[in-house]
This record gives sequence, structure tokens and C-alpha cells, in this order.
Amino acid sequence: AKGSLSEDICFYEKTMDEAVRQRRRVTQGLRDALENEEFELYYQPQVSVGNNEITGYEALLRWRQKDGSFISPAEFIPVAEDTGLILPIGEWVLRRACEEAKHWDKPLRLAVNLSPVQLGHTDLPRLVHQILIDTGFAPARLELEITETAMITDMARSTFILRQLKALGVSIAMDDFGTGYSSLSTLRAFPFDKIKLDRAFMGELADNTQSRAIIRAVLSLGESLSIPVLAEGVETVDQLNFLREQGCDEVQGYLLGRPNRRALPLSQESVEIAK
Ligand code: C2E
Ligand code: CA
Ligand code: CA
Ligand code: CA
Repeated sequence: AKGSLSEDICFYEKTMDEAVRQRRRVTQGLRDALENEEFELYYQPQVSVGNNEITGYEALLRWRQKDGSFISPAEFIPVAEDTGLILPIGEWVLRRACEEAKHWDKPLRLAVNLSPVQLGHTDLPRLVHQILIDTGFAPARLELEITETAMITDMARSTFILRQLKALGVSIAMDDFGTGYSSLSTLRAFPFDKIKLDRAFMGELADNTQSRAIIRAVLSLGESLSIPVLAEGVETVDQLNFLREQGCDEVQGYLLGRPNRRALPLSQESVEIAK
């Protein structure tokens, strides 16, 4: 019988033999997915708090199953990273995102996630350069999102690669800020163009003094370092109002727009909400 991917990757509870077989199956599934065009990109708007306008979109990878359902990247990306398949998949993402974003109505910023495994690859700057040339996409429109976990294994090497990427004219955002152990030292190691505050802090914002204090602290840190801060996972008007009061630069979340197959403008509802 064919198990779902989530069953497949819950192999820890099973025997080693079975684990190995299932892992092979997921790996083969990902390989086929790449060949058979089972991947799609969805785009979620990022919105300026100052003027309520969309500044860009983040590309989010989707793996479409035969029955039309999707497997979450949170489930399959770790497998792709372990097997090295994230390299061809990541290359596909970057290329496809640049191709699609070229046809947007407005030349807005395109944010693309990079895996730590991709960053660990010395060839990354050359690859990004080649994709920019092949697609004719303006480097200034491209923002690469990197988590601090991507940097901690070898900070010197990572910053070297990030510098080469920046030299191409693309910008670099620090993703999931505040969730790791070394957010601050990572910030010191490299001049990021943006801080993306993890949505973990948005959750209990309303009744959690700690979360509010941390958000304020990160916003003031961004201000001191002259790095704009984008808050992720904004779902409620209360959260948006708090962020606006505290001087947050940009927001992203279901309140403003869900990831969509096309880079949609803000809905009338979201426009009203953002006012
Ligand atoms: P991420 O980079 O932190 O992306 C944001 C995630 O939060 C996305 O989940 C997005 O759909 C979700 N999200 C956005 N707004 C809200 C909100 O208001 N509330 C809640 N609860 N969630 C919200 P998604 O698309 O499932 O992606 C999960 C993770 O998978 C991403 O987290 C990223 O780490 C990874 N990922 C996605 N696409 C790619 C890719 O192309 N390459 C790589 N390397 N990783 C990717
Ligand atoms: Ca991201
Ligand atoms: Ca994030
Ligand atoms: Ca995240």
C-alpha cells in the first residue's frame, strides 16, 4: 500500500529496514516530482506598513499530488536537504520564480528561500548569477531569504558566500529571526538587508507581555542597525495595529494575503483592513 509522505517521514518509530525503504521511496518521489513538473510556486504578498502597498512577494514551494492535494514544504524540504535533492529543487525554484516574476504587472521584489544546504555550496553565487542572466531578471528585484541555521556551521564561509551574492546586486534577508540560538551574532557577522521576525512571536501577542517586549526589542534593534524589519504571520488587525504603533516596516501574513498561485494584488478586504 502507498503511504502518505507524512507517514513516510515518520519513520523513526519503525524498524530500520522499513525506514530505509520508505526514505528511498520519498527520495524517488521527489526525483520524479522534479522531472514531472509536480512542483509549483505560490506567492504571498509583503506589505509596507507605511503606505499599505505591496512591496513584493515571497515564493513558497508546493508539491502537488496526483489527487490535487499538496504536501507541505515543511515535510519534504528536510528530506530533500538530507538527500541533496534540495540542490536541483532549489535551482528549479530560483529559475522558475525569476521567470514568473518577470511577467508580473509591476516589477516588485521577489523573495526566494534558500536552504542551508544551498548556502553551503560554493557554486551558489555562480548559479544565481547564471539564472539572473538566463532569465534577464533584474538583480535588484531579487531578495534571498536565509535562516541563521544556514550560517552557524561555518560563519566565515557563509558570510563569504553571502558577500558574493550581494555583489551580484541581490539583497539578503534574515529569515525566522529570533527562533535560533545565535540570531544576534549572526546579525553582527553580516549586513543583512532585512530582518524577518518569526511568526512564533505573533501567536500569543495579545495576552503575552513577553512576546510584545521581544517584538519591541527587535524593532528597536532593527532601527539602531538601520535594517528594516518585516513581521511574519500577521493574522489579526490587533497584531497589525500593534506592529504599526511600534514602527514595524513591513508585514506578511494571512491578514494581508495568503500564498497564491499568482501574485495577486491586495483584496478589497485587506486594503480596508490595512488602512
Ligand atoms: P518560511 O520561509 O518561514 O515561510 C513562511 C511560512 O508561513 C509559509 O509556510 C507560509 O505559507 C506561512 N504563513 C504565511 N502567513 C502566515 C500566517 O499568517 N499564519 C500562519 N500560521 N502561517 C503563515 P509554507 O509555505 O508551508 O512553508 C514552510 C517553510 O518551508 C518555509 O517557512 C520555508 O522554510 C520552507 N520553504 C518553502 N518554500 C521553500 C523553497 O522554495 N525553498 C526552501 N529552501 N524552503 C522553502
Ligand atoms: Ca521565508
Ligand atoms: Ca520565515
Ligand atoms: Ca518559519
